Amino acid sequence: MPARLSPWFRSLSVSARTALSLAVGFTLMIAATALIAFWQERARAIDESLTRLDQRNASVVGELRQRIDRIERTQARALQLFRQERASRSIAEARREFAALYPRQADGSRRSTDMMFTGGQTAIGMVHGMGAFIPAAIERDDAAVQDIIAATHAIRRLSEGSQFDLESLYYFTPANGIVIFAPERADRLEYYRRKAPADFAFQDREFATISTPAANPARAMRCTGLQSLISLKDQEVWTTGCMTPVDVGGRHAGTFGTSMPLDEIAPAGHFAGSPDERVILVSREGRLVYHPDYTRQNRQSTGQYIDMTSSERPDLVALWSLVREHGRQGYVGRADALDAFVSLHRVPGVDWYALALKPEAQILTQALRPIPRIAAMAVIALSGCLAIVVLVLRHLVARPLRRMTPEAERITRELVSDSMLQLPAEDRSGTEVKQLVSRFETLASAIRTSHAELEQRVAERTRALNDANEKLRILSELDPLTGVANRRKILAELETRLERMGPGGALAVLVLDIDRFKSINDRFGHVAGDDALRALANRIQAMLRPGDALGRMGGEEFMIILDRARPVIADAIAERIRAAIARQPFQVHGNVTLHITASLGVALWSPSDSAKALYARADRALYLAKESGRNCAISCRDAA
Ligand code: GH3
Ligand code: MG
Ligand code: MG
Repeated sequence: MPARLSPWFRSLSVSARTALSLAVGFTLMIAATALIAFWQERARAIDESLTRLDQRNASVVGELRQRIDRIERTQARALQLFRQERASRSIAEARREFAALYPRQADGSRRSTDMMFTGGQTAIGMVHGMGAFIPAAIERDDAAVQDIIAATHAIRRLSEGSQFDLESLYYFTPANGIVIFAPERADRLEYYRRKAPADFAFQDREFATISTPAANPARAMRCTGLQSLISLKDQEVWTTGCMTPVDVGGRHAGTFGTSMPLDEIAPAGHFAGSPDERVILVSREGRLVYHPDYTRQNRQSTGQYIDMTSSERPDLVALWSLVREHGRQGYVGRADALDAFVSLHRVPGVDWYALALKPEAQILTQALRPIPRIAAMAVIALSGCLAIVVLVLRHLVARPLRRMTPEAERITRELVSDSMLQLPAEDRSGTEVKQLVSRFETLASAIRTSHAELEQRVAERTRALNDANEKLRILSELDPLTGVANRRKILAELETRLERMGPGGALAVLVLDIDRFKSINDRFGHVAGDDALRALANRIQAMLRPGDALGRMGGEEFMIILDRARPVIADAIAERIRAAIARQPFQVHGNVTLHITASLGVALWSPSDSAKALYARADRALYLAKESGRNCAISCRDAA
């Protein structure tokens, strides 16, 4: 897509873009289809035209061929009659008829009587339409006289019937005698009958030369090229002549001939046919026999023929070169130099070339004919399709998308309002889809940020809660006055340790009670008493080994758990604690120095002991210590 078109295209809605894309796509497809249709139609039109041209040309060739066949048949019949007549007559008979039919003229030649042309009874019966010129020399030759008379009879007999439909039938000899039947000739055969000079000779003319044994060894009928009629020199009557040689006893006696004037074979408009197909006839020596533009044969005139071999007209030059190239074997196809399609065939017998020709422009016009129809149908179908696509897209896609966009925006704004997230500047460009995608990207980023903030807050609160719980736990286990374990904690500790005790383990419990503490309170006040309790706890704690534990059981009574304490060690530690309390007084509130003693009960763990039993034994030992005067440590064994 061109750069300038692209932003404009991007600004269109989804339906408009789809419709436009489809329109472009469809148009290209339609154009391709039309092009294919055109090429197919063109190929079909060419095929069809070539077939028609060839058929047309075949009918032209057929028509000419028929005419030549008719001449050939007539001349064959003439030859047959000639032989009959030649055999059935003596020389004397022949000479008698010769003298009667062809009286000698002043110039020494013999010519036919007028009646032979105008019609009437003669020495050989009814004759009409005939003329003859016989040079003086012939009458000296019996055979020639017999030949002339036999030919005269043959021609007369053939011309009698109403079926004779040729322009002429004549017989001429190598000695320039000629007998001719041609009742329709405009000059009424006056040339032969009167005008021809006594020395009239035509042996050098093509119609004579093609019949000599040397030129025509096969002795079959042959036709001349196009030439003007010998008798009408001042008028251009173009004709071809077909000649059958006549041999008598191996001697070339003469020739039967028939002329085919162009005004008869190919009068103007004769091959007109359909206007876009043109028929052209060309003689073997390159003269136009028939051409819709250049020849105009009719009864009055058959002039205006064109010699293509010397013509400079480009169309005739092209035509002649086509004939020269393909004339022999024939050709059906395109003639590039003529911009036309053509069928070219040789007309056997006369050796002419018949062409049927159709300009390529006409074939293209024919091929283009269905294109507007295809295009119109395609445009209607395309418009319908596009309308449906646009409607469906609007209904199914564009509208729901447009509804979703503000919804996404609303959720985003809500999220943004209670977080630190900044909403990006609104972008209203692009399609509904692009806008929706952009809204959802913003929404997703808002959700991610909001989620992260929430997680952080939860983590902080969880930490605070854990801290508070830890504080609570510590508080619930500590004695607030002295900071040592409280009763519940020290008893729980004892339970735990007893659970873990193996059979060879050792543990001792001391219970310590301050002697006469009530009187201390009474004498120095409770604040001093509290100070004393704290100081005493600190002093005991400082004396314990790692693994030992101290707890306040309540009032001025403490419990000490001695880890791995065998009896002697337990006693020693109890004694050491007692002594440490008694030996050094405590400094308390009100700058008072207190001398304090404490009594201790010691109980040693034995495998069957529970915490309760152990405590009870230590307590009994303590009772005994009090009993025995206080400020002493008594072991349970001592008690026992
Ligand atoms: P004995 O030698 O037989 O143990 O005599 P005693 O006075 O120590 O025993 P008694 O059970 O009669 O008195 C205990 C006193 O301990 C009573 C109370 O005033 C004092 N006491 C208990 N708890 C506290 C406390 O938390 N602070 C203070 N200052 N005194 C306490
Ligand atoms: Mg007490
Ligand atoms: Mg006491």
